[in-house]
Amino acid sequence: MNRLITVIIIAGITFCCGCRENPKSKDTDVELKSSTKEIFAMDTYMTVTAYGENADKAAEQAENRIHELDAELSTGIEDSLIAVLNKKGSAELTKDAAYLMKCSLELWKKTDGAFNPAIYPVMEEWGFTTKEYKIPDNDILRQKVQLSDASKIKFDENSGRTEFEIDGMKVDFGGIAKGYTSSEIMHIFEENGITSGIVSLGGNVQVLGSKTDGSPWRVAIQNPNDDDSYIGILEIKDKAVITSGSYERYFIEDGKTYHHIINPDTGYPAESGLKSVTIVSDDGTLADGLSTSLFVMGFDKAKLFWSDNSDKFDAILLTDEEKLYVTEGITDSFDSDMDMTIIEKED
Ligand code: AMP
Ligand code: MG
Repeated sequence: MNRLITVIIIAGITFCCGCRENPKSKDTDVELKSSTKEIFAMDTYMTVTAYGENADKAAEQAENRIHELDAELSTGIEDSLIAVLNKKGSAELTKDAAYLMKCSLELWKKTDGAFNPAIYPVMEEWGFTTKEYKIPDNDILRQKVQLSDASKIKFDENSGRTEFEIDGMKVDFGGIAKGYTSSEIMHIFEENGITSGIVSLGGNVQVLGSKTDGSPWRVAIQNPNDDDSYIGILEIKDKAVITSGSYERYFIEDGKTYHHIINPDTGYPAESGLKSVTIVSDDGTLADGLSTSLFVMGFDKAKLFWSDNSDKFDAILLTDEEKLYVTEGITDSFDSDMDMTIIEKED
């Protein structure tokens, strides 16, 4: 068969999908329908591709779901549920928003505060929310850090009722919502009988099943120093592959780079010694939340955290010194030209 390898480069990760044209089902050798949608939402470019009889319907439903979640969750949309919660200090959350609040607060606890859904006032102060970047005044930043106290979010899981105990608090699901969205698309695919599909939401990839020829999907992990190259290729089935990196959103002032992943203790961009963190997991929501969290933690804490939770995810860590580390669960499926050190589970 004439194999066509398409390489799609979207900020974050490059993903390579073999056989995008005229794919055949491995069982029947019958041509499979495919449908691809390209969407701009959640401030990023997204691609959704489904293969199978109901591919068109599945891709369309996925597109609708993305817009629905964007309208609910995006802080940048003035009348979104989260924007209203931030304005009023209280709201009844929808099922989606309540799920993300629950996951975010659980992660906040599990990561010792490295993941903090209440970080939005700090994001605003740096101008990351408007793209009018500035280095905040120290005293004001300290006040914003105090406002970002996730223990002051009163949340009732059953009703979705949410209330901030301090005036001016604001939440932000920017570190977790894309992973939830890709997980939701996998469910839509499954409901439509799709057995092979892939989404890339601004470079965060999640796949259903394998490629149509039965081989694993190949996801290239971006080189933070160069948009056009990658640090390695990962082969996956039924996984999310989500990367957080200081290179994804930043500004430079007086020769210093300030990026968008914040250390909640200081209010400054996390300088943890890591340049990028990729999480590989069955669960897109968890993968997204953890990519942000492990980036903030830095190498030593990230390694320990993985060791304690190695049944839930694997990770690829690139340090500022260009040292590449890979957790042992994915060593056979990750291929790189760089020297890499395998992180093994501690007893
Ligand atoms: P990601 O690319 O998944 O790492 O998400 C980065 C986004 O998460 C930022 O643009 C902020 O919206 C938000 N964010 C930044 N720092 C944190 C943090 N420490 N905890 C949770 N969310 C954060
Ligand atoms: Mg994240």
